[in-house]
Amino acid sequence: MSPTNIIVITRRQLLSFCLLMTLIFSLVIWSSSRKVWPTVGGAQTGKAPVILDAGHGGVDSGANSREVKEKEITLDVVLRIRKYLEKKGLPVELTRDSDVDLGGELTRGRHRRDLEARLKIINKGQIAVSIHVNTANAASEQGALILYACNSEKGKKLAETILQELQKVQKLNHPKPIPRSNIFLLRVSEVPTVLVELGFISNPEEKAKLMQPEFRQKCAEAIGKGILNYFNIT
Ligand SMILES: [Zn+2]
Repeated sequence: MSPTNIIVITRRQLLSFCLLMTLIFSLVIWSSSRKVWPTVGGAQTGKAPVILDAGHGGVDSGANSREVKEKEITLDVVLRIRKYLEKKGLPVELTRDSDVDLGGELTRGRHRRDLEARLKIINKGQIAVSIHVNTANAASEQGALILYACNSEKGKKLAETILQELQKVQKLNHPKPIPRSNIFLLRVSEVPTVLVELGFISNPEEKAKLMQPEFRQKCAEAIGKGILNYFNIT
């Protein structure tokens, strides 16, 4: 008979082994369910590259005309930008993808709660672009505007790369991005954030353009191209 090797495992060792295996198993499950974002702009931060914010929504229509509401234009353009960027391989997250506001019940402070909910999502990204449509008392006022936080160099760069492309498809109201210190989302955002005003709904010609799917698509692609340029993606 050959000698038999007997391995004695104590109850404590068995328990430790089981615990270790559970830990390894949980780690494997956790890492496979976690989104892994591509490296963009030279830095892998584990954050979604782009957050797109469709201005207004739900009870808040934004700038209104009889035929069309700001919240409808902003959502449509944001969905078009998302489609464009995802086709180019750049993942996108949205603050909203339907006609809702994020402020909860219709009580005092709803607007502030809406902005804070957007901000929470924006801060999960690497950059954020908020899309809006303008309105003015003077019907002659027209063209796109891009705003950024006055103390943000990266915000300025993002605003410039978007403006460079947007001016190819839409008139500009102002030839350069405008630094601002009094816009909540720009002021308190922790990531480079810009606000794009696509044009004036109060100008009859621009309102007609903003209602055209073709024009919205052109604007969306220009903004998407600007975002790709910011990340040096060709
Ligand atoms: Zn707006």
